Amino acid sequence: MTSEVRVGDVPVQPFRSMEEAIAYVLNDGHVISGSAIAINPEKVMLAKEDQELRTAIERATLRYADGIGVVRTIRRKGIENIRIPGCELWQALMHRSARFSTPVMLLGARPEINEKVVSSLRALGVNVVYACDGYSLNENELFKALRETQPRIVSVAMGSPKQEKLIHRMQEAYPIAFYQGVGGSFDVYAGVVKRAPNWACRLHIEWLYRLLSQPRRILRQRNLVKYLLADMRGKL
Ligand code: UDP
Repeated sequence: MTSEVRVGDVPVQPFRSMEEAIAYVLNDGHVISGSAIAINPEKVMLAKEDQELRTAIERATLRYADGIGVVRTIRRKGIENIRIPGCELWQALMHRSARFSTPVMLLGARPEINEKVVSSLRALGVNVVYACDGYSLNENELFKALRETQPRIVSVAMGSPKQEKLIHRMQEAYPIAFYQGVGGSFDVYAGVVKRAPNWACRLHIEWLYRLLSQPRRILRQRNLVKYLLADMRGKL
C-alpha cells in the first residue's frame, strides 16, 4: 500500500478500494488503535487557520480521502486512489467486525435511532457491547463502560466538533480502541436521512445536491472554491 500523501499541509492515506481501507483498520480480526478522520477540501483549507482542527488531524492514526477534490489532487500527484465515504467505511467495518465478533460501542444520534441501529447490527451478528444515544450520555458512566466492556471499535455519531472532542477525551482514558466520528451516519443507516441520490454521487456533485437542499452550507462551499483554485495552481 502507498504511504501517506500530502494534500496542502495534510497527510492523507490513499486507498485503491474500500476493501483496502477496511483491511487497514481491521486486519484478520486485529483492530488498529487510534482514530480516523475524513479529509475533504473544506478541512484542508480550514486546517490552515484552525489550530484545533490541525491538532485533531495530526492526532488521528488514519486520515482518509472523503472528498472527490482530495482524491483528484492525490491522482494528480500520480497516485491511484478512490474516495472513501465515512459512512460507507463505518458500515463496512461494522459488517466485517461481525466475522471476528469484535466488541463494538455505538454512541450518538437520537434514542430511537440509536436503538434501531443497534438492533439492525446485532441482527447481522455485530457484537455491540455498549450503546447510548447522543443526548443522554453521562461521561462518568461512559468511561466506566469503556473499562468494563473493553470495546475495540467505538463509533460516535454526534456531529462535528462534538464527536471529535468526545473522542479525544475517551482516547485519553482508553487508548486501545479504534475511534471513528461518523456524523449523521446512524440516521442514514436507520433510514431517517437520505444520502444524496446515486446519480449525484456518480457525477461527483453530491456537494451540489447538499448545497441545494441545505442552502446554509454556502459558507462551507467557499472553501471548496478556494481549494479548487489552489489545486489548479498546483499549490496543494
Ligand atoms: N447528535 C447527537 N447529540 C447531540 C447533537 C447531535 O447525538 O448533542 C446527533 C444527531 O442526532 C445526528 C448527528 O449527531 O444523528 C449529527 O449529524 P450531522 O449530519 O449534523 O453531522 P455532520 O455529519 O454534519 O457532522
